[in-house]
Amino acid sequence: MVILICFSPQMLKIARRKAAHLLKYPDVQVISLGIGDTTEPIPEVITSAMIKRSYALSTMEGYSGYGPEQGEKPLRAAIASAFYKDLGIDEGDIFVSDGAKCDISRLQVVFGSDVTMAVQDPSYPAYVDSSVIMGQTGDFQKNLEKYGKIEYMRCSPENGFFPDLSTVGRTDIIFFCSPNNPTGAAATREQLTQLVKFAKDNGSIIVYDSAYAIYILDDNPRSIFEIPGAKEVAIETSSFSKYAGFTGVRLGWTVIPKQLLFSDGFPVARDFNRIVCTCFNGASTISQAGGLACLSPEGLGAMREVIGFYKENTEIIMDTFTSLGFNVYGGKNAPYVWVHFPSRSSWDVFSEILEKTHVVTTPGSGFGPGGEGFIRVSAFGHRGNVLEACKRFKQLYK
Ligand code: PLP
Repeated sequence: MVILICFSPQMLKIARRKAAHLLKYPDVQVISLGIGDTTEPIPEVITSAMIKRSYALSTMEGYSGYGPEQGEKPLRAAIASAFYKDLGIDEGDIFVSDGAKCDISRLQVVFGSDVTMAVQDPSYPAYVDSSVIMGQTGDFQKNLEKYGKIEYMRCSPENGFFPDLSTVGRTDIIFFCSPNNPTGAAATREQLTQLVKFAKDNGSIIVYDSAYAIYILDDNPRSIFEIPGAKEVAIETSSFSKYAGFTGVRLGWTVIPKQLLFSDGFPVARDFNRIVCTCFNGASTISQAGGLACLSPEGLGAMREVIGFYKENTEIIMDTFTSLGFNVYGGKNAPYVWVHFPSRSSWDVFSEILEKTHVVTTPGSGFGPGGEGFIRVSAFGHRGNVLEACKRFKQLYK
């Protein structure tokens, strides 16, 4: 039996295509470098902390029920010190969650259906999908006044994957992901300074997604709060998913600085707190024990080792496509390689690769119109599978 797991309409379509392919070729080894799910085991220093916490639940002394909705204090403090040291963010600004995707939707509930929003094009589909669910788009051709619209900020090789802000209309909310999924591009300090100024000038709120910040190798900012003035205009959401293989364990966090206010002066964090307490009762205490272990010196070392492994995969994939003459982007600061197939449809390339190499990739057009002509190859995979996939790519495109 083939089980379909629905992540988004695009992911559902890819899962269907993969399932159909498996039925057609039951004896071939289909390799998935498609969805961005981690594959390597969680280091034991982290799982043993979760085991200890779950065993403690069977004891009178160790049992605990509901925790604080915002997350346990030691974890909030550890996140503040690991990722926001000297940036003026303290544990009170941090909300621990069951993942960045869930927080993106909870933020949309805070913003409501009357706001306008902008996204990088291409970008992680959850921003647009959650906006559509909230009714922020409507039929915007007909109902622009009533529903607002989504502004697609084109990010391409021509503009260094950073939008030309002089052509972007004002919106209430700007979703911005760096390093970006799918392009792998990490914004520079100068670019983020421009973005913060743009938001300040327009009275917009940036929702900055740093789910892949730990993959940054150069000195590009790991957090929007490295940019002066960002605390007055930005929220940051992040996750242990791609840091520590917690895609199934579920743990993330969102930072809403106390300085961030709605136009009427009301703190955004107070509204978010209300939503968190109403729609969510806090992350699993077992996951939080794992998160705390991730941020211990041993945990940080072990996490970086796994990330180093994925980075080697990324290099193998990048070298393969580069040696075949393709223009290849991303990779350096992210676990995604963004390969250009000029003048071709992403879905045609996806089908060609699947049919001829039995490797699942992701068509770029599913991330927005700006992704047309690209495919995303994920570096999340066992080494043998990555090497085998690259061997097949070489046979196909030599
Ligand atoms: N943000 C980006 C940019 C992602 O690519 C993903 C997952 O692929 C997420 C958020 C989701 O993170 P989480 O597993 O914490 O919900």
